[in-house]
Amino acid sequence: MRSSNRIENITNGGSDGWEIFYKARKLIASGTEVVELSIGEHDIGTDPAILNAMYEAALNGHTGYASVPGIEELRSLIANRTLEKTGIETTLDNVIVTPGGQSALFAAHMAALDDKDIAAYIDPFYATYPTTIRSVGALESRIVTSAKNYFQPTFEQLDSGTKQAKSLLINSPNNPTGVVYSKTTVANICEVAKKNDLWVISDEVYETQIWSNKHISPREIENMSERTLVVGSLSKSHAMTGSRLGWLIGPKEIISKAIDLATNMTYGVPGYIQHAGIFALRKGKEFEQKISKPFNRRQKLAVDILKDFPQLGHIPPQGAMYIMLDIRSTGMNGISFAHELLDTEKIAVMPGESFGEAASGHVRISLTLDDEKFKKTFRTVCNFANSLS
Ligand code: PLP
Repeated sequence: MRSSNRIENITNGGSDGWEIFYKARKLIASGTEVVELSIGEHDIGTDPAILNAMYEAALNGHTGYASVPGIEELRSLIANRTLEKTGIETTLDNVIVTPGGQSALFAAHMAALDDKDIAAYIDPFYATYPTTIRSVGALESRIVTSAKNYFQPTFEQLDSGTKQAKSLLINSPNNPTGVVYSKTTVANICEVAKKNDLWVISDEVYETQIWSNKHISPREIENMSERTLVVGSLSKSHAMTGSRLGWLIGPKEIISKAIDLATNMTYGVPGYIQHAGIFALRKGKEFEQKISKPFNRRQKLAVDILKDFPQLGHIPPQGAMYIMLDIRSTGMNGISFAHELLDTEKIAVMPGESFGEAASGHVRISLTLDDEKFKKTFRTVCNFANSLS
């Protein structure tokens, strides 16, 4: 029996851009020591107090089917947190709890698009964007930004890339670039969304990791909440990647449709995980800052080290847990550079080409090692690039 065209088309048998990651993991499995700076995973585990809340919740009976849209207390907490940040009225009816931000990305595209509708997204992009769009049977429109403009899309790029589209997916703070969209960029996104009648799907999973620039959600801009779907998650903000706890925020009507989808897809998120999420959110801003602080420190350490390597460019990191190094002075593309670096120095970084065409000639380096080890490893990467320049 043959599988459906839709599911065949998700990856089309092509590369998923993760070759370096798989190669590094293979080396590690064979006993070789490799320093991995290739994934967006904290160097710490989930806080024991959160794990304890999860355990207690399970012992207290939250092991059966949980409410599909999410426990009301959790939805309300997420709604209030958003209201506080944006000033836009948000109630639990605007929120559905999902198994991670990825599931919210899927739900948002399912809710916004019909078969063969065009879904726009911005290059460089997080690895699953094109495949999520293909998973829902939509067609892609890629808006390729420029390193010269620090990967902020211009009005013209946004407008021409969305003329036929029904949705526009954005991500700020951005993975892989570490860029936070400026006030002008967000204003342009909103203007284009109104002009071309688009849903804006705003992936804000890194919203607690801001080093400079202010994070502005398109949902807080006038007349935008009716056409904006916000993707959020505790993965990055609370070091809870494995718990799979995220959410989608949007107009009540579309959230109620997303609940129909969840009933037929995930049937909700385990109750003990949701209770751990309630506990985690109740820990407040101080805890979120504790989780984000090391990445801020390390981006500063990286920028400092780069002062010794004037031939190496970089994208000034404004948020998220990455720094993009411009290695074009080596004459190599990001893929060859990442392979050489792994083969020679046993350090794994992600080629910019894994995130589209705009970031070619760059590598994304995760800020996910303790400070001393990070400094040493980052300097080794820079020395390696220097030796090739
Ligand atoms: N969006 C972006 C930009 C990401 O980088 C990630 C994970 O790395 C996700 C969404 C998915 O996050 P989650 O763990 O909440 O599914």
